[in-house]
Amino acid sequence: IAPYGVFCLMSVLFAEKGLTVLGDLSFYFFIVVSALLLHGFLTYSLLLILFVKVNPFKFYNKIKSLMLFAFSTSSSNATIPVTLRTVVDNIGVNRKIASFTVPLGATINMDGTAIMQGLATMFIASTVGVDLTLVQYGQIVMLAIVTSIGTAAVPSAGTVTLALILGSVGLPLDAIGLILAVDRILDMIRTAINVCGDAAVSCIVGKSEGEFNQEVFDSKN
Ligand code: ASP
Repeated sequence: IAPYGVFCLMSVLFAEKGLTVLGDLSFYFFIVVSALLLHGFLTYSLLLILFVKVNPFKFYNKIKSLMLFAFSTSSSNATIPVTLRTVVDNIGVNRKIASFTVPLGATINMDGTAIMQGLATMFIASTVGVDLTLVQYGQIVMLAIVTSIGTAAVPSAGTVTLALILGSVGLPLDAIGLILAVDRILDMIRTAINVCGDAAVSCIVGKSEGEFNQEVFDSKN
């Protein structure tokens, strides 16, 4: 019955706010995708260059099927076996390091989810006409980080825990209906970014522990 529920929630919002909400929603979608891509490709590239001293393009080339798998399942947990195989066989991190960092990362590392939750809260606040204070912005950032850590690595879990952030800054919970229409696609993208972070950080930990095999990384597989 979820599609009917979303339809009802959105009908109320469109009736109250008018069709301009559609334009705002497209803008929200565009901003979240841009922030996710920027984080996924810029932050991790910098970390890889700084701490592992490898070519980030090569890294992304090696994890492209992993990111595709995460994109299609929308679940970091379901992707664990593929992440482990990619990190060990294609990237060259020793299995004893990867079998600790990958499941831990899949459970607590949710950068993509935190980005979505922060932006979704600001979008909902501006749509329902609530002016957030500077302190509330700080609160949203902290809560998005903590909440994303507690989010289960399954499809749409980040949208459920978003309710915690909305509640704590005094925003109406039913406004979540506003973002549900585009959330499925955003979930696919943010899961791919979450998994990319798990692989990148495994690489960094492997390197710092002297358990990173440069030859495997340089190989063609
Ligand atoms: N689907 C995400 C993951 O598994 C969690 C979420 O943001 O909903 O990484």
